[in-house]
Amino acid sequence: MKKPVIAIDGFSSTGKSSISKIIAQKLDLVHLDTGALYRGVTWFALQNCVSENGTVDLEDLFKNFHHIHLEFKNVDNELVLFLNEINIGKEIRSNEVSDNVSNVAKQAEVRDFLLGYQRKLAEKGGIIMDGRDIGTVVLPNADFKFFLTASIEERTKRRYNELLGLGIPAEEQSVKENLIERDRIDSEREVAPLKQAEDAIVIDNTEMTKKETIEKILNCVKNF
Ligand code: C5P
Repeated sequence: MKKPVIAIDGFSSTGKSSISKIIAQKLDLVHLDTGALYRGVTWFALQNCVSENGTVDLEDLFKNFHHIHLEFKNVDNELVLFLNEINIGKEIRSNEVSDNVSNVAKQAEVRDFLLGYQRKLAEKGGIIMDGRDIGTVVLPNADFKFFLTASIEERTKRRYNELLGLGIPAEEQSVKENLIERDRIDSEREVAPLKQAEDAIVIDNTEMTKKETIEKILNCVKNF
């Protein structure tokens, strides 16, 4: 039986990844959190390609793409990102990565580097991919497209609690500022900006539980 290709895009901390993960389990699909890939490249850059003033040296990063091998592996039933065989699942959630990822992700070179990998994984179908440009650029022919949004207050609360749950120190105001800044850079960039695909179903889940958002999506895809 053919399985669907589902694209989930939206603003930061609208629950895209955790919702996609559960839908993947329910429909027996592969789940790809594309944000993790951009975070993985950013983590690599912060370790290896930093200029004297402490910022990411983009030219150096572009020259070193061939040293970056990213792969998701199953660890205790969770897909975890490995960089060159090292588990970086926790590192990619750090504040340092969150503060730098959008400036790395807006580079055309970085997007090109990750595009082929994302498309290849979707070739066989049976996948739910979440990110910012999945419905518009990566998988424009996806069977279903959703665009998630929620108020900044609600999203701040969610990300703040997520960080605390991961044992990462956080402060609500800076979490909020990071979300606003990332959404701004992601929406304004020239290449593959964060935007709703014309044929996407928009879900504002400010007042919805995770379960309700999942049910709404499952309801839309049930007749595939
Ligand atoms: O989804 P997450 O918040 O982990 O994504 C981190 C960052 O990666 C985003 O803020 C964005 O800059 C970048 N990203 C992107 N395109 C995607 C997924 C993520 O530019 N498809």
